[in-house]
Amino acid sequence: LTSSTTGERLHVIHIAAEMAPVAKVGGLGDVVTGLSKALQRKGHLVEVIVPKYDCLQYESIRDLKVLNMHVESYFDGRLFKNKIWVGTVEGIPVYFIEPLHPSKFFWRNQFYGESDDFKRFSYFSRAALELILQAGKKPDIIHCHDWQTAFVAPLYWDLYVPKGLDSARICFTCHNFEYQGSAPASELGSCGLDVHQLNRPDRMQDHSAHDRVNPVKGAVVFSNIVTTVSPTYAQEVRSSEGGRGLQDTINTYSKKFVGILNGIDTDAWNPATDPFLKVQYHSNDLDGKAENKAALRRYLQLSSANDRQPLVACITRLVPQKGVHLIRHAIYRTLELGGQFVLLGSSPVPEIQREFEEICDQFKTHEHARLVLKYDEALSHLIYAASDMLIIPSIFEPCGLTQMIAMRYGSVPIVRKTGGLNDSVFDFDDDTIPAHYRNGYTFLTANEQDFSNALQRAVKHYMSDADSWKQLVQKVMNLDFSWDSSAPLYEELYHKSVARARSRK
Ligand code: ADP
Repeated sequence: LTSSTTGERLHVIHIAAEMAPVAKVGGLGDVVTGLSKALQRKGHLVEVIVPKYDCLQYESIRDLKVLNMHVESYFDGRLFKNKIWVGTVEGIPVYFIEPLHPSKFFWRNQFYGESDDFKRFSYFSRAALELILQAGKKPDIIHCHDWQTAFVAPLYWDLYVPKGLDSARICFTCHNFEYQGSAPASELGSCGLDVHQLNRPDRMQDHSAHDRVNPVKGAVVFSNIVTTVSPTYAQEVRSSEGGRGLQDTINTYSKKFVGILNGIDTDAWNPATDPFLKVQYHSNDLDGKAENKAALRRYLQLSSANDRQPLVACITRLVPQKGVHLIRHAIYRTLELGGQFVLLGSSPVPEIQREFEEICDQFKTHEHARLVLKYDEALSHLIYAASDMLIIPSIFEPCGLTQMIAMRYGSVPIVRKTGGLNDSVFDFDDDTIPAHYRNGYTFLTANEQDFSNALQRAVKHYMSDADSWKQLVQKVMNLDFSWDSSAPLYEELYHKSVARARSRK
C-alpha cells in the first residue's frame, strides 16, 4: 500500500444501490467500484454497503458469509431485523444488507423499477447507517450516491449524530439529475425522517408541488460535499434546463458543489488482458483488434467480405437521454455511407423497446447491421474491441463512460458535445484545439444533419487514410482515463472536509 500524499489514511464507506460487477445497471456501478479501488490503492480503508439483491452476480463475490449480527432497523413504526453478509468484490470489502421484512425489498429479480422503490431504498439507507452504528465503525467519510441513497444525508444529521455516530462527513455524488426520486411527502416518514421538518422549500420539498419531497434535494442541502460527474455537467445543472428543478438549490450551495470527471476501471477494461475477447491486443499490435472484428462479424453473422469496411457500434441504455432518434438515424446513415452497424442496448421504456424490436426484425438477416436488444456484459467487451467507431449522440450526458472505454479499446468516439462527453472528446478536425487533444468526432446540435456530418467525417477519414486512422487509434488507446487522475480530487475534497470539521471542534 502507498500512503496518501495529501494526508492521513481515511476510512471511507460508500453506500450505493449499485456496484460493478455484482450489481450493475449502468455507470453508477462502475464508478463505485472504480473509485473505491483507486482510493484503496492510495492507502485508504474503503468499504461498500449495497443491498443483497436476489439478482446479484454471486460468482464475482469472494468469501461471502453471513455475519453473526442482526442489525435492527426502523421502518413504518416498527423494527425489522436485517441479515448482514460480507464478502470481497474486486478486493473491496462489501457489506450486503438483507432486510428480513415481509415485503422482500430486494428479492424482486431486478434492481430498480418497483412501485415501492422510494420505500425500499429509504429503508436501505437507514439500515446502512444502522449497520455502521451497531458495528462500532467510525468512518471519516460516508459517501452516498444518487437518489436511492440520498436519504443518508438527512438521516445522518437528524437521527444518527444524536445516536453517537458523529465521526463522518457526508459526501453525495449525483450521477444524473434526471433521476431525483421525488415522492409524496408522507412516504418520508417510513424511514423515520420528520416530514414536517423536512418538507420545506429550503430543505427537501420538491419544486413541483408542496406535498412532495425530493431526496436528491435533501442530499444537496444536508451533505458536506456534493459532487457530480464532470465539470461541464456541473455547469449545465446550474441552469433551468440541466438542473431539472434543482438549479436554485445547486446555486445556493455552489460553494460545496463540484464536478469531477469519472474515470474507468482500467483493470476491468483492458484489451491486453480482457478474458471476454477473442484475442487480447494493445496499441502497438493492432492485429488482435482486427481478429476481434472478424470474430464479432462471424458471431453476429455479418458480412466479412471487406476488412476495410468500418464497423460503427453503439452500447447503451435506450432511454431518451441517449438520443434514441439519432441512434436510429445512425443505423441507416452508416449503411448509406458503406459501413456496418451494431447496436447493443435495451430499454426500460416499453415504447422504445418495441420500436427497436421492430428495427431489429427489419435487420435480422441483413449483411451489415445487427441489433442485440439486451444487457450483455461479455458481448459489450467484444463490441468495444471489434468496433472502429462508437456513437454517443446523447441529448445530455452527465459523464458517460462508453466513450472512455471505447478509446481504451481503439474505437474512436463520435459524440454530442454535452456534459462529460464535452470534457473527454475533442474533434479531430477542429484546429482551434491543440492537436494532441483531438481524439474523436463531435457535433453540437442534436439533429440528424449535424450528427450525420460528424459520422460522415469519421467514416471518410477511416476509408480514405488508413495510416492516419491507425495513428488516431493508437493515440486514443494510450490516453489515460483511469481513476488515477480523478481519485486524488475526491481524496482532496475528503481531506479538506475532514480538516474543516476538526478545526471547528
Ligand atoms: P449510463 O450510466 O447512463 O447508463 P454510462 O456511459 O455512464 O451510461 O455507463 C454505461 C455502462 O453500462 C458502460 O459500462 C456500458 O458498457 C454499460 N452498458 C450499457 N448498455 C449495456 C448493454 N446493453 N450491455 C452491456 N453493457 C451495457
